[in-house]
Amino acid sequence: MGLRVYNTLTREVEDFAPQDPALVRMFVCGPTVYDYSHAGHAKTYTQFDFIARYLGRRYEVRYLQNVTDIDDKIIARAAQAGQSARELADYFQAAYDEDMRWLGNTAVTDTARALDHIPEIVSQVRRLIAAGAAYELDDGWYFDLSAFPEYGKLSGRMTVAPEDSLSRIDEHHAKRNPGDFALWKRAKPGEPSWDTQLGPGRPGWHIEDTAITEKFFGAQYDLHGGAVDLIFPHHEAEIAQMEKISGRAPLARYWMHTGLLRIDGAKMARSEGNFTTVRQLRQQWDRRTLRYAFISHHYRSSMEVTDELMDSAQASRKRIESLYRRATADGPSPDAVAREVRAGREAFFAALDDDFDTPGALAALFSLVRSLNRHESGLGADVRDFLMEVDALFDAFDLRGAGDGGDGGDAHIEEQVRLRAELRAARRFAEADEIRAQLAAKGIIIEDTAGGTRWWYGTGQEA
Ligand SMILES: [Zn+2]
Repeated sequence: MGLRVYNTLTREVEDFAPQDPALVRMFVCGPTVYDYSHAGHAKTYTQFDFIARYLGRRYEVRYLQNVTDIDDKIIARAAQAGQSARELADYFQAAYDEDMRWLGNTAVTDTARALDHIPEIVSQVRRLIAAGAAYELDDGWYFDLSAFPEYGKLSGRMTVAPEDSLSRIDEHHAKRNPGDFALWKRAKPGEPSWDTQLGPGRPGWHIEDTAITEKFFGAQYDLHGGAVDLIFPHHEAEIAQMEKISGRAPLARYWMHTGLLRIDGAKMARSEGNFTTVRQLRQQWDRRTLRYAFISHHYRSSMEVTDELMDSAQASRKRIESLYRRATADGPSPDAVAREVRAGREAFFAALDDDFDTPGALAALFSLVRSLNRHESGLGADVRDFLMEVDALFDAFDLRGAGDGGDGGDAHIEEQVRLRAELRAARRFAEADEIRAQLAAKGIIIEDTAGGTRWWYGTGQEA
C-alpha cells in the first residue's frame, strides 16, 4: 500500500503520485510579516513540517514557502511605528524564522520573499492583461473573473463566507464582478512603491504566490498546502491566475488544508483580536510538548489548545521517552519483542500512509508501548531503533537527552542525578536530598539500586 492523500480539489482520498516519481515539489503559503506569528502558524507549519518529513522517507522533497513582505497591514503598522515597511517586515520575518527554528520546523528548503520577485510578478500581470483577463481602474489592475469560468472549483463557491481568513477582496465601485481581486495596486501618496511597466505600485496579495511557484516549479507542481481559511479567496485566486496564464490545469495536483486552531474555545484569528503568539506559547510550554499536541491531532481537524491537552501531551511524550531509556539499557531485542515491534511498526506506518493519520499512528504506538511494558526487561535495540525512526518524523521526544532549554531537558536531569550520586558518595546527604526534592517537584522519581541510580518521569502519584 502506498501513500494516500485527501485532495481538497477533488474532495477525495487519492493515491499520491508526484509528477516526477523521485521528487515532490510542494508549496505552502507563508506568513505575512507584520506581527509576531500566532499559535495557528505554529500548528499549520508544524503539521506541514511533519508531512514534508514523511514524504522525505520516499521522495526527495522541495518545500517552498513564500513570505509576504508587503501589504496593507505591513504599511499601516510601519507607519504607526515610524519605520519603513522594509524594516518592519525584516524584523518580523526574523522573529518568524526564530519561532520556527525553536519549534524545530526544518523541512522548508526554499524561502521566497514577495519583494524579491517584482519582475516575475509584473510578468504574470502583463500576461494576464495580454490574455484579456485583467483590466485597469484608477487604483490599479484587477483580475476579471468572467475570464475564468472555473473560478470556485476548489472551494465550491464564489463569494466570501464567515470562516474565510481576512477576505482581501479589494473593493472598488467600478469592478466588473464583485469577486474581482487586485493584481497590482497603484501607489498612494506616502506608500512604498516599485516603478514598473505597470506603473508605480505594489503587488496584490495573491499574485506573489503564483509568480514565485512559477519561478521555482513552473506552471504546475505536486502539492499546495495552507490552512483551511486560505481556500477562499486566496487559493482560488492562485488557480485563476496561473491556469489562465499557462492554459494548463491543475496548478497543483494535490491541495492539502490544515484545520484551524482554537485556544480555550476562541478561534485563532487576528481579525477577532484574540490570538496568542508563538512567543507566548514558548513561555508556557516546551517545544516538544507543543509539537506532540499538534501532531496528536489529524492535520485536517481543527483543534483547541487547553491546559488539559498540553498536560496530557507532556505525559504521553514522557511515556515514550521512559520506554526509550529502558530500551537503551538493554542489548539486542529478544524474538518476542522483535515480533511485537514489527507488528506495531507496520500498524504505525499504515496509519500514516492513510492521509497522514497521526492519531491512528499514535494509537498503534501506544498499543505497542502497553504490550512492551509487560516485559520486565530486555527490550533492546529494535525498540530503540523504532522510536528513533518515529522521532525523526515527529521530533517530539527527547530521546538523546540533549535537552533543548524548554523544560531544562534530560541532559540537565542527568547532570543533577550524577551530582546527587557524587554528593552521596561524599556522604553529603543533606545536599543530595535537596537535589532529590527539587527533581521530585518536577515529577522526576529517583531510585537507588545496586547497579546505580535510575530515574524516570512519574505520574505524580509516586512522588
Ligand atoms: Zn499564499
